[in-house]
Amino acid sequence: MSNQALWGSLSSHLLSVLNEHEFNTWFSRTSLTVNDGTATLLVPNYLFLNWIKDNYHNLLEQALILVSGKPMLLSLAIAGNSAPLPEAPVLPPENEPVSLSDKKREYSSLNPRYVFSNFLVGSSNKLAHAACKAVASQPGGQYNPLFIYGGTGLGKTHLLCAVGNAILDNNPSAKVYYCSAENFTNDLFKAVRFDGVNSFQEKYRHVDCLLLDDIQFLGGKERTQEEFFHTFNTLYNYGKQIVVTSDKMPKDIIYLGKKVCSRFECGLLADLQPPDEELKMSILYNKALERGIELGLNVAQFLARQPDSNIRALEWYLTKLIAVSEIQGVEITVEMASKIINSLAGGHKIKLEDIINIVAEYFSVAAEDIKSGRKHREVSYPRQIAMYMSRKLTRTSFLEIGKAFGNKDHSTVLKGVKRIEVSIRSNYEASEQIRRLEEYITGEKNIKIINAPG
Ligand code: ADP
Ligand code: MG
Repeated sequence: MSNQALWGSLSSHLLSVLNEHEFNTWFSRTSLTVNDGTATLLVPNYLFLNWIKDNYHNLLEQALILVSGKPMLLSLAIAGNSAPLPEAPVLPPENEPVSLSDKKREYSSLNPRYVFSNFLVGSSNKLAHAACKAVASQPGGQYNPLFIYGGTGLGKTHLLCAVGNAILDNNPSAKVYYCSAENFTNDLFKAVRFDGVNSFQEKYRHVDCLLLDDIQFLGGKERTQEEFFHTFNTLYNYGKQIVVTSDKMPKDIIYLGKKVCSRFECGLLADLQPPDEELKMSILYNKALERGIELGLNVAQFLARQPDSNIRALEWYLTKLIAVSEIQGVEITVEMASKIINSLAGGHKIKLEDIINIVAEYFSVAAEDIKSGRKHREVSYPRQIAMYMSRKLTRTSFLEIGKAFGNKDHSTVLKGVKRIEVSIRSNYEASEQIRRLEEYITGEKNIKIINAPG
């Protein structure tokens, strides 16, 4: 039997015993070669290697015998063309003399820890990563300006700084400047009041690469937009690189003037989507490694399965776990992680029933309708929102949420939650409405909640 045929039969066997999601996660990117009675499973990276070894080795060995009809040894290897786990960034030792490029880095206000080598790539961030790499190797070239957009904690600032750090690595005499749109605004404000606009223009118009973070902050600030527009044009006309990030696309930034908006739209727009489970696991595993801790893969998976896409939030959990583990001298296990995360989430316990009532009230429908099977959009949309909020705010399982919503099965809940996630990503108005509703439910906006009718 050829390698391919053997892998084909083995895959079908695996698919019959594992669920599809599990199979796709761990085996859709693997292949098999056979040599002298030893079958070698080629996997994309270290994470896969360890995970498959720990969880599927026996299953694979038995399956191999079954499909090949003879005993076979199984080994695992990382496929030759894939990158090894990135190493932790090398930071300058504290007492070493400061070199020119270190001074430059300081001037640039770049975070030296955000580099390409510790940015992990998956399907959700492939495009943005590739665009940033291209810009870093050829600033002012084909992708100018580059506009990176995506939700909170998905890696925008990391990528933006990685571009700047790489440009400085390649050319220590380059003038790179990173700043948030908020600082840009404050600088302009100060310049207008105290130092004169010339100093501002001197600072921002004489760089080789301007990296402006969270540009959505310019929405509604006409004076700053005007100044940015001129800064942009000056830099662009001299072939200087501009990279900006935003939490939404240019056209969705409220009160962003047409002039500025169209400048961005002429460049390359690249989005960052929420990471999948595997990428979340890899990132967590790596972040722990950077702190000298080898995180159990089952713990990484447990954290990755928390209903947060925000990597910053996941890192925050990791920091808590590491702190507890160091203070109490205990190992980080799934059990320990689950206790801590529950206690973190317990601070503001919201009941599913409350969420249903609040959402019903917000949309002026009856809570009973939300729990019913009625398919009319007037009811089904609030129902999906309530399911989404339940998952997001209480971390309850899909199964339990289904029960609270009039005994629906877990796939209905999953579908509802996914639908809302899609509309948050694709529809600005819906995302704003949902954000306000979330503030309303969590009491952040201190709005008195009245009991729902019925
Ligand atoms: P944003 O600016 O989009 O809100 P950040 O760039 O601040 O997000 O990222 C939040 C945290 O997540 C940072 O610590 C960053 O290093 C980490 N992070 C995000 N994406 C990745 C990735 N693909 N690989 C490694 N770390 C990541
Ligand atoms: Mg950021």
